[in-house]
Amino acid sequence: MTDCIFCKIANREVNSRIVFENERVVAFHDLFPAAPTHVLIVPRQHYSTLNDVPADQAALLGEMVATATQLAKDNGFAEDGYRVVMNCNPDGGQSVYHIHLHLLAGRKLTWPPG
Ligand code: AMP
Repeated sequence: MTDCIFCKIANREVNSRIVFENERVVAFHDLFPAAPTHVLIVPRQHYSTLNDVPADQAALLGEMVATATQLAKDNGFAEDGYRVVMNCNPDGGQSVYHIHLHLLAGRKLTWPPG
């Protein structure tokens, strides 16, 4: 997608603080962190919402989660804990329409979310 901010970040057309990337996923710091650690994991392939991900791309969603758990281990907060969440469409609180997994850590997170 030519006008998608996360596509531009993944293609390095827009600056961001990338912490991990491979052929399929890119992880970078959220511009407006909601926790001491707030990283977004996105696929290079553009899907606007979770609803748009074909069933045969389930492995890509799994790789996004695996990237989050690896980052949690590498950065030393796996044992204390963290949260991964994907927001979908307006009622889910989605504001950027390129799917992304939030990885939040570094403080006690409350439940339920607002
Ligand atoms: P969501 O509301 O679930 O769609 O999450 C979108 C997230 O993207 C928010 O946490 C924003 O702070 C974050 N965000 C928006 N623009 C940028 C950007 N240019 N670089 C990094 N994070 C961004």
